[in-house]
Amino acid sequence: MTKRDYYEILGVSRSSTAEEIKKAYRKLALKYHPDRNPGNKEAEEKFKEAAEAYEVLGDAEKRQRYDRYGHDGVKGTNFREFTDVNDIFSTFGDIFGGGFGGSIFEEVFGGGSKSRRRSGPRTEGTPGADLRATIRLTLEEIATGVEKKIRIRRYKPCDVCGGSGAKPGSGKTTCSDCGGSGEIRQVSRSVFGQFVNISTCTTCGGEGRVVRQPCTNCGGEGRLQGESTIKVTVPAGVSEGNYIPLRGQGHAGRRGGPAGDLLVLIEEQPHEYFKREGDDILYDLWISFPVAALGGDVEIPTLGGKALLTIEPATPAGRALRMRDRGIPHLNSHGRGDQIVRVNIWVPRHLSSEEREMLRRLQNSPNFVPTPEEARGSGKSFFEKVKDAFS
Ligand SMILES: [Zn+2]
Ligand SMILES: [Zn+2]
Repeated sequence: MTKRDYYEILGVSRSSTAEEIKKAYRKLALKYHPDRNPGNKEAEEKFKEAAEAYEVLGDAEKRQRYDRYGHDGVKGTNFREFTDVNDIFSTFGDIFGGGFGGSIFEEVFGGGSKSRRRSGPRTEGTPGADLRATIRLTLEEIATGVEKKIRIRRYKPCDVCGGSGAKPGSGKTTCSDCGGSGEIRQVSRSVFGQFVNISTCTTCGGEGRVVRQPCTNCGGEGRLQGESTIKVTVPAGVSEGNYIPLRGQGHAGRRGGPAGDLLVLIEEQPHEYFKREGDDILYDLWISFPVAALGGDVEIPTLGGKALLTIEPATPAGRALRMRDRGIPHLNSHGRGDQIVRVNIWVPRHLSSEEREMLRRLQNSPNFVPTPEEARGSGKSFFEKVKDAFS
């Protein structure tokens, strides 16, 4: 099924402002609202279609993606098609002006059903906040993957009351401030006429119930500050700036609410002699000029231990040698990067008189004198050569 253009659905131009889009959507939503069109399937479809369009065009980032890539551009993780009218109220509550969708519809059209409302009394507590932690990893750890233990301070459920906040055996009672609804209603006026503004009751935190006698261990909070040791399994191939989300490992919720998440940020420790370039490892090797001229096997450190690398006879300085599959494993696919070894020629600082004599003889030997072409090099700049060496 081909989808209609979102701008067309809302009846706005591609250059319209966020305010115009919001206005256009509000108009359509009121026109096709199910309470105004009972049993009208077509109106309900139009109502959903407008909500979907507004979900995209009402969000600057999604709108930009839609402008560039069309419908496919917004089929990401945060996008959903509305199948249930109630979802629309819970998602766009605030644009209807009353702080919350259900209320204004109830007032404007009369008698909205209770089941449509988003909040209402929540059964259990308030959710806990998310936590962040950082772990520093060596390249060796990144190459193999690693299990780390981190210590964090976080709220933990109170084990005396089991997180409820109520003194064991005392139970809960209806909140007197909101009468158990979890909401405080305030009447206000807007362009649509008088309507009711609903906010969460602060006394009970929206729960509708308060503890009869607070737990003495946690003071009725249902949670306590404490230290925890958490095991983090890091897969091979992560990079600086990656996050590992651990669901439910953040702060415990208040009075039995769900726990937040723990987000573990990856930091990469600089290595003593390796440099990471994507999943490749760069290494500067220094060889003597006899080895450069004669060739030979040299021992090279890699992330997985020592390895032998064969230097061909007549290897010039600046040559890059590739050691396949000695790099970092790819995080999201099979295989791994390479280790790239750049050859440098080491020149001794101190010479004995005998060595000096041998070199003097070599100096004038015809094979040791570059031709004018060789002496000039390729004409590439030093920086281009370095770039080539590592590409
Ligand atoms: Zn307690
Ligand atoms: Zn209350």
